[in-house]
Amino acid sequence: MPADILKKDKVKLGFIGLGIMGTRLTRRLHAAGWNIRAWNRSPEPARELRQAGIPIVASVVDLVADSDVILSSLANDAAVDSVYRDVAGVFSSARPGAIILEMSTISPLLSHLLHTEASSLGISLLDLAVSGSAPAVEAGTVTLLAGGDRDVFERCSPIYASIAKQWFLMGGGSSGVQMKLVVNLMLGIGMQAVAEAVSLGEHLHLDRTVLLDVLSKTAVVPPALVGKLKKIETDDYSPQFPLRLMSKDMDLIMETARAVGADLAAGCAAKSVLDANLKANGDLDLSAIAPFVFNRTSEQSSLRPVTDTDKLCA
Ligand code: NAP
Repeated sequence: MPADILKKDKVKLGFIGLGIMGTRLTRRLHAAGWNIRAWNRSPEPARELRQAGIPIVASVVDLVADSDVILSSLANDAAVDSVYRDVAGVFSSARPGAIILEMSTISPLLSHLLHTEASSLGISLLDLAVSGSAPAVEAGTVTLLAGGDRDVFERCSPIYASIAKQWFLMGGGSSGVQMKLVVNLMLGIGMQAVAEAVSLGEHLHLDRTVLLDVLSKTAVVPPALVGKLKKIETDDYSPQFPLRLMSKDMDLIMETARAVGADLAAGCAAKSVLDANLKANGDLDLSAIAPFVFNRTSEQSSLRPVTDTDKLCA
């Protein structure tokens, strides 16, 4: 263990991005006793945290200039690029020696760029992707997937212990987000598989409650998707992991696969269904794929017959 491991009473944390994930991560870190302040682009989520006793600052510059460790969880590449690289962004005012834990799911390309720029400024940066949705953040059971320097990774372990069940260093810079794309390919395809299994069972007029109960008890449905079966059972599609973010991740996965020559036929099919559902249900939970698949007739489906995956992913 490095001698300069982070200590709660010695470092100041600054959290950027108070969405579904950031709000919960900030609350957990605060509850665990870290000295944490936060910033968000729009005021509403910040108001809620201020009421919980977490100081909210007026700008990224104010937050970053007085933080030893900066954490961020932002929507997508455009958000991360602007928050870090704009004139009044993180890189304009972070101190040399500061540590950045960038937790958004972004392209490996942008992640690589952040690593290069941070390094040129004397700032230590880890990509620290999160696997696990809102309930897992609340329970402190997410998995963290990191890319970057081993010594920095180990120094930050007390922070991980406050928010996660397990954490892995995958390798050098941007390997954490690469692993996250690998994991979320499984989630995207898995959700599509669950939606189709439920749809078939319902078209066969199996008892819906029993169908969902049996599926949740089989070994073939992983824990993350057992939670989605519960949402389907109660028709509760309030967002934990919104469909728009899964769609964004599938875009990143497909772009990355194309760049490295990996053939993802089932991923293409899952992405095509997500895209078809995005406009109507983007802000709903990913599990809203289930009623969408059920209500589509075979004639409406662009996926039948699947003969040319390249066409599906064009
Ligand atoms: P979210 O609820 O949509 O929150 C997105 C955050 O990004 C908000 O704070 C939003 O600020 C901010 N933002 C968006 N565009 C911005 C811009 N141009 N400038 C500054 N801030 C901007 O998303 P989330 O669910 O918290 O997810 C955050 C990240 O974690 C994403 O990359 C996602 O893929 C990843 N992730 C999510 C989950 C999950 O289950 N939700 C799980 C693992 C990983 P405003 O409030 O002002 O809009």
